Amino acid sequence: MVQGNYSVMASETMDPDVCEQCQSIRPATPPIDSCCGSGCAVCVYDIHDQEIQLWKKTCKRKHGAEEIQIEDNTTVMDLMDYRYYTLQSIVPVCANTAVYRFMLPPGRKLDLSIAKHIILRGIHNGKVITRQYTPISSPHDAGFFEVLIKLYPGGDMSQYIKQWKIGDEVEWRGPFGSFTYQPNEGHYMIAIAAGTGITPIIQVMRHIIENEEDETVFRLLYTCRNYDEILLRETLNELALYWNITIIFNLTQSLAGSHPTEYGEIIQYGRFTQKRLSKEVAASMGRPVRVLVCGTRSFENDMITFLKESGVQANSIEKF
Ligand SMILES: Cc1cc2nc3c(=O)[nH]c(=O)nc-3n(C[C@H](O)[C@H](O)[C@H](O)COP(=O)(O)OP(=O)(O)OC[C@H]3O[C@@H](n4cnc5c(N)ncnc54)[C@H](O)[C@@H]3O)c2cc1C
Repeated sequence: MVQGNYSVMASETMDPDVCEQCQSIRPATPPIDSCCGSGCAVCVYDIHDQEIQLWKKTCKRKHGAEEIQIEDNTTVMDLMDYRYYTLQSIVPVCANTAVYRFMLPPGRKLDLSIAKHIILRGIHNGKVITRQYTPISSPHDAGFFEVLIKLYPGGDMSQYIKQWKIGDEVEWRGPFGSFTYQPNEGHYMIAIAAGTGITPIIQVMRHIIENEEDETVFRLLYTCRNYDEILLRETLNELALYWNITIIFNLTQSLAGSHPTEYGEIIQYGRFTQKRLSKEVAASMGRPVRVLVCGTRSFENDMITFLKESGVQANSIEKF
């Protein structure tokens, strides 16, 4: 069990509200460069403040005088309190990336609204760490939820996740995220995603196709280094069968034309440039455009710059 696997660390500062025993599991302060400075609805520092409050509350519950609250079981996941979820399966999808399935009580659904993410709490080198992940299972899936996670060789949470075994109890809380969507609001939607940045975009696409009244035209530009790194390709190919969805798989580290086109896939090569994005925006033919961008911080910043240079208004661009 991962639960209770906390080890002692050198304390950053002694907190007078927390007992000596709990000082060792103080949530790690995010590094100075972890905030992107773009005013995210829930910034890494907001999450850290919440983590500190939770740490103090947990200490009081365990070792102090605070009365133990009866858990609110009306939702299967809580915004402000971690709950444990049992890891049911791990299905690798490509090198370093797998779909992790967690159990929910029979018949219960995670019930997340569109493109929301959840927070995982783990331990690495004796430090309590948190990271955000976006479930990829459908809100209609009952009895489980799934997250697609890429592991990084030097990543803190990645090292923790690498040790997971089926049956482990893992801590999650949520949901978070400020994205809102009304059917037909932006009749032409472009999504630009890189790597695991596909996770919130899949949720938006599913939401659109599930509503027959929604006539939004959706164009996904999904970039990966090579064909084998395209995540959830089968799911994406199923979504591309809908009349209003077009998917471009973009490969940055494969020679142009090197990959045979299968299943009617559209494959392009090279990096996204201002010129390419400008053409994409022009294809909207005057319809209102909304653009979703999700990838690494530097990828998102580059894409937003290109989009603005292509005439897209800042309030029509959504960064996850
Ligand atoms: C809203 C949101 C949703 C997300 N959804 C998903 C999702 O669905 N799936 C998913 O896989 N990810 C998702 N992410 C990313 C995820 O939260 C983590 O950032 C990711 O898993 C890496 O965490 P880590 O602790 O393993 O790596 P970190 O420790 O954060 O490191 C990340 C990378 O930086 C490198 N690095 C770390 N420290 C240094 C250093 N000092 N110098 C140089 N390099 C360094 C590491 O080697 C690694 O390659 C999401 C992020 C956000 C903000």
